[in-house]
Amino acid sequence: MAPGPEVAGIDIFVRIKPVSKPSPRLAIDNLENKVEFNIPRNEAAGLVNNQREHFEFRFNGILQADAKQDEVFERVARPVVMGAMEGYNGTIFAYGQTGSGKTFTITGGPERYVDRGIIPRSITAIFGEISKRHDYQYSVHISYLEIYNNEGYDLLDADREIKALEDLQQVHVGEADDGTVSYRNLSMYRANNEEEALNLLFLGDTNRTISETPMNQASSRSHCIFTIHVEARKSGEDVVRRSKLNLVDLAGSERVSKTGVDGTTLREAKYINLSLHYLEQVIIALQEKAMGMNRPHIPYRNSMMTMALKDSLGGNCRTTMIATINSAQDQLDESISTCRFAQRVA
Ligand code: ADP
Ligand code: MG
Repeated sequence: MAPGPEVAGIDIFVRIKPVSKPSPRLAIDNLENKVEFNIPRNEAAGLVNNQREHFEFRFNGILQADAKQDEVFERVARPVVMGAMEGYNGTIFAYGQTGSGKTFTITGGPERYVDRGIIPRSITAIFGEISKRHDYQYSVHISYLEIYNNEGYDLLDADREIKALEDLQQVHVGEADDGTVSYRNLSMYRANNEEEALNLLFLGDTNRTISETPMNQASSRSHCIFTIHVEARKSGEDVVRRSKLNLVDLAGSERVSKTGVDGTTLREAKYINLSLHYLEQVIIALQEKAMGMNRPHIPYRNSMMTMALKDSLGGNCRTTMIATINSAQDQLDESISTCRFAQRVA
């Protein structure tokens, strides 16, 4: 890997989902990149979150409700994608409650071409760059990992369609001698062009929804990591430069109330909370390290997610998080929670 970019740390954007009735309690200060919540005292008491009335959060950028997918890609993803072309690992997360627009942001909407999300646009950008760079030979591989209850599943597994989740071979993540992340049972397909890469995305997304029923929206309970592995070899040289771009659709961050849910849901919620908590711990530890604080240990080993991203966070890597929020009145509590999380890792 090439030496690191000058800026370490993580960029945080907030994306506000368009809703028919946005709450007047939410205000955005575009110049200051601030999101403010002003809750009257009588309403604030009803929030599980806090009894306070005024909440203020500052981010690297705000993607307003009218921000289109191309703007999101240009502002948030293109710098990370270009970094991957230069040999830097990169990771883009979408974090937020179920229904707030994570999948729309990362993968895109199901119908219109203009609704393509960050993954298809990154694929287009990468192959577009490759076609312009004649002094290098590139090869691109794709993997698509799903993490459910801290266990890994291969979304590109050919058996996925015919087997039940519990009969599928689990993916194991470990570490190679050179410190890079290595996998067992995770398919890695070569994509020779944009179309092949898009087909792999489509296959994985189809597999992802197959295990869902209307009652059990499994995809909101698992984390999905779409990884584009880029290998570049300068013509006439032996040295190969490798980098990875991880595009991560995190499980829904909402807190599940104890009433009215069955055991599975509670168990799932426990795993989700834990894994998001471990992710937060790792990011905070990396930030402290970057600031020169004495921190001997980054707790990657606590969860599969943090192990899977071990070589793609902090240091040499570009890391961006998009916190997606819903601005409807009855969702404000979760939106405040989401902003809080985003602020803690910023
Ligand atoms: P999540 O993955 O966080 O659970 P989704 O991405 O599935 O949420 O979004 C929920 C619904 O809202 C979907 O129907 C999606 O198409 C729509 N949606 C989300 N964000 C936007 C947006 N920025 N513009 C238009 N529709 C959106
Ligand atoms: Mg989703």
